[in-house]
Amino acid sequence: MIIVVKPDASEAQVKEIIDHLESHGLTAHISKGSERLIIGVIGDKSRLSADSLEVLPAVEKLVPIMESYKLASKAFCPEGSSFDVGGVIIGGNELVMMAGPCAVESEEQVDEVAAKIKTCGAKFLRGGAYKPRTSPYAFQGLEREGLKILRKVADRYKLKVISEITSENDIEFAADYLDMIQIGARNAQNFRLLSAVGKSGIPVLLKRGIAETIDEWLGSAEYIMSEGNYKIALCERGIRTFETATRSTLDISAVPVLKGKTHLPVIVDPSHAAGKAAYVSPLSLASIAAGADGLIIEVHPNPKSAMSDAAQQLKPEEYQKLTNEIRAMAVILGRTYPE
Ligand code: PEP
Ligand code: MN
Repeated sequence: MIIVVKPDASEAQVKEIIDHLESHGLTAHISKGSERLIIGVIGDKSRLSADSLEVLPAVEKLVPIMESYKLASKAFCPEGSSFDVGGVIIGGNELVMMAGPCAVESEEQVDEVAAKIKTCGAKFLRGGAYKPRTSPYAFQGLEREGLKILRKVADRYKLKVISEITSENDIEFAADYLDMIQIGARNAQNFRLLSAVGKSGIPVLLKRGIAETIDEWLGSAEYIMSEGNYKIALCERGIRTFETATRSTLDISAVPVLKGKTHLPVIVDPSHAAGKAAYVSPLSLASIAAGADGLIIEVHPNPKSAMSDAAQQLKPEEYQKLTNEIRAMAVILGRTYPE
């Protein structure tokens, strides 16, 4: 259930609602919009009668939510949410670009990419330190050393760090080195990991599971939000279909569908969907045209020599060409692109 609070309600009246909920063992999650305060009610509501809420002076209306997710639903924040990661707004009018190699291989490799993406308007440096590989014999990532390299290089270029965490045991260490946690497609329904990143309060990029429906994906987001962490962006990265021409099928329609179902910002990863560098630029442009708030793209100084995902990583000059096109497209769409 969601409680819409009257616009002229006093602080004391809002507190009265929260106290009433808490006295019934329920948790109040507050969403402060530009015009309205909305309270998401989480917990077992069977012992609370709707009448006892409706009589409170600050309550304008009660909205029952049928979906299994509530805090992630559009009703909780109808104008759309945005959040700040160290001065970078995700979900605002400005498009957010995240880029970097699939995996951190060396400081030199990361530095070369970071220098380039910085000049192309990227705000986040990506790079896998804990790599979730299909085979246990494939390169597993530099782990802690990888995170340290990312932080060092990102600070050099005033970029934010985003990197995947695959185990709740690594969150505490990673917290000192990254600005945003990526939850990968393979862990999109690892509910204990989702709850742990929720508790950490660190901003999250939540990728869509390889076979996750949009509603299931929003359920994953709800696991994080119900722990009090609202700083989440959803990342469409392709789903598994019968088609084999691409690594996964990028679900472009997920972008407008999400915009109707949730207030959370939407980022698209065309690299893992395409699996081939040649498809990354057209899919990027399509994603922005469909309403995505940003892109996360793999860029490697020498893709052919990459230790993972060699076929899909863009060369720095290809990334530059693509971002020039996105910059031009942003103008048509009434969005801004970083200088
Ligand atoms: C990645 O971004 O490094 C990655 C492994 O992506 P995904 O989880 O979407 O496969
Ligand atoms: Mn990759």
